[in-house]
Amino acid sequence: MQIVLVDPSRTVRRIVSDLIEQGGYQVCPLSDGDEALAYIKANPEVRALITCAELASMSGIELCRQARALAGGRRPLYILLMSSSDEHNRLVQALDNGADDFICKPPIAEELRARLRTADRVTSMQDELFRYATTDFLTGLLNRRAFFVSVVEACERAQKGSAVSAIICDLDHFKQINDTYGHGVGDAVLRTVAAEAALLDGIVGRLGGEEFGIIVEAAVLDGMEIAESFRRTISQLKIPADKAVVEVTISLGVAEWEIGDTTDSLLRRADLALYEAKRAGRNRVVAADTFSISQNHENWRGVSRSSVLRSKQ
Ligand code: GH3
Ligand code: MG
Ligand code: MG
Repeated sequence: MQIVLVDPSRTVRRIVSDLIEQGGYQVCPLSDGDEALAYIKANPEVRALITCAELASMSGIELCRQARALAGGRRPLYILLMSSSDEHNRLVQALDNGADDFICKPPIAEELRARLRTADRVTSMQDELFRYATTDFLTGLLNRRAFFVSVVEACERAQKGSAVSAIICDLDHFKQINDTYGHGVGDAVLRTVAAEAALLDGIVGRLGGEEFGIIVEAAVLDGMEIAESFRRTISQLKIPADKAVVEVTISLGVAEWEIGDTTDSLLRRADLALYEAKRAGRNRVVAADTFSISQNHENWRGVSRSSVLRSKQ
């Protein structure tokens, strides 16, 4: 467990750091609250913060509050305020501002180590719970819920001007694979496709069954290139299964985030494009805008590109 220790006194930092290291933990001793926040932000492996109540740039209570806000609901961070034992008001304030525990200053070695063991136990459990809550068990990708949280964040980035595209991918005739080779082989195929998807430069999740979502920081044409390259990779796989070698293809729908889009409308357009890819024969990529415009029989520069990108079966 990595710990950040904040105290303005060099002597206190040295003594407490020694105690922490003797407990088998790594410590980063710092003198100031802003420095500590910057370090915690840049180093996601930090799981505990011990801060003295009196700091130069901000109070220890304020550091507790800001560190808790920085960790948010998704990052385990155990916060300990270090202060003299008779400051009960401060203890209450610290707990109300995001601290998990309180320790006397100067700390007693055994007590400090016992509290750090608690911090280690609690944050390890939070870490595991968070992993379980966000990971798809079969493939190790983000699960549907965690993927949607990431899409919301990506849409927020898009609102600030980054290009963002959503790709939805569905295995073709996957039921036949299950029916022919059995569910175990079907699972192996899903894991193989997921492992390839995880190599893509983007946020990748399993939306359910044999459907995956991919968010890329790219406009629609680049999104289509990524989708097409992924489609090609999957179509070339020879997946060993029992006594057979299984081949599989995927269909993909791509939609770029547009002003006014919500997470739902973006994914809905990608889904409609996927539906069109299935309808048009599978093993191909369709972009939402090319699809809607080509449906209206309008001539659009993207249509020819999309037809280039569509696979020949
Ligand atoms: P299409 O090309 O239209 O997508 O056809 P499809 O057969 O892929 O689609 P369909 O929706 O008919 O069937 C999907 C199948 O995926 C049915 C379901 O049993 C199977 N499936 C869903 N989740 C899992 C899983 O976790 N493991 C395995 N092995 N199969 C799964
Ligand atoms: Mg399918
Ligand atoms: Mg499906």
